[in-house]
Amino acid sequence: MKSDLQRLALFGATPAFDVARVVGRPNPIDRARFLERLNRALDSEWLSNMGPLMHEFEARIAEQAGVRHCVSVCNATVGLQLLAADEATGGRPGDEVIVPALTFAATAHAVAWRGLTPVFCEVDPVTGLIDPDHAERLVTPRTRAIIGVHLWGQACDATRLAKIAESNRLRLYFDAAPAVGCTYGDTPVGGLGDAEVFSFHATKVVHSFEGGAVVTNDDALADRLRAARNFGFGADGTVHLVGTNGKLSEASAAMGLTSLETLDEISARNRVNYEQYRRALAGIPGVAVLDYDGPNRNNHHYLMVTVTAERSGLHRDVLLDVLRAENVRARPYFAQPLHLMRPYLRPDTRALPHAEALCGRLLALPTGPQVDADDITRIGEVVRTAVSDAPAVVARHADLAGAARQ
Ligand SMILES: *Cc1c(COP(=O)(O)O)cnc(C)c1O
Repeated sequence: MKSDLQRLALFGATPAFDVARVVGRPNPIDRARFLERLNRALDSEWLSNMGPLMHEFEARIAEQAGVRHCVSVCNATVGLQLLAADEATGGRPGDEVIVPALTFAATAHAVAWRGLTPVFCEVDPVTGLIDPDHAERLVTPRTRAIIGVHLWGQACDATRLAKIAESNRLRLYFDAAPAVGCTYGDTPVGGLGDAEVFSFHATKVVHSFEGGAVVTNDDALADRLRAARNFGFGADGTVHLVGTNGKLSEASAAMGLTSLETLDEISARNRVNYEQYRRALAGIPGVAVLDYDGPNRNNHHYLMVTVTAERSGLHRDVLLDVLRAENVRARPYFAQPLHLMRPYLRPDTRALPHAEALCGRLLALPTGPQVDADDITRIGEVVRTAVSDAPAVVARHADLAGAARQ
């Protein structure tokens, strides 16, 4: 055993961090500004139902995304459900919507919840984004829509997907939940396809406790969505369609507005962290940072790496435990590809090798303004040390797992 291993907590050393570095920590906000907004809502006694803070937040998001309409909702999942239920999707039970197999479960659940059938599409082996060629092959007479997902803020191939949607008369939506502040070329994410959906969940780059928005340039769709999120009531006070309760509260809008004010600063800070991680992990066999340096701008809210066991000598899950011992709460993203999740697994489910392989390799490392350059250097040293003596780490990990089972 090389002596370096004695510096790893897995081998009994003191953990690298006494305060855990975690993935999914809420981004900091200016608390005084948030409380001032919240007090305004409390003083006015207008706490929900399309209040002034909600309207202000919608205007700011529409401006940020460069679109005509922002319809805020209580979370992104409900936003996706409203699109699946919209008359222009035109789905009847059993009709199909193509979604990538590598995404958060909500993308497919929103479709299935409306009685439509999600059809799982293969992804690019490197970026994890929906593979348009495969999407095109999945189109059947029952297909109504494609939902692209801008995974980890990487914009998917909206140009190809738009061509496929147009030539097959499909609706094209984007699950842009993680992609506030990102671009597709020079176009801000938000203006692509027929509509896009943002999430403002507590763990997202801009957050409102819980919240989301559907953004679109389609005036008629925006009217229908505004009704649909408010029990179907139109501007004239009569019910136009079967709606739900998807409204964003004033407390959430107050948080959303305050959080949105930090977006540029946090994205810049995340970018610095990304560059630091690239240096800290450079040259480690089988460990690669997902490359966000193309023409599309990322908010860098997620620092994603792949761990390829054939080259690193240790599986992603072993590295997760090595890091956990150091008080680094990295996370596998995603735990499972969607086509293998229990509700979607069928006797005839086909393998999607790229989605499955990536699911076993991807790891999110802590970033955001609460992680600094020294932290990243230290995390890089841990990974480098573990990979440089992978067989001993794997053996130690197996011993500890065996002891834990007894
Ligand atoms: C976060 C996320 C969602 C869910 O957003 P909620 O606002 O929590 O409903 C959906 N899809 C993707 C890709 C996400 O990252």
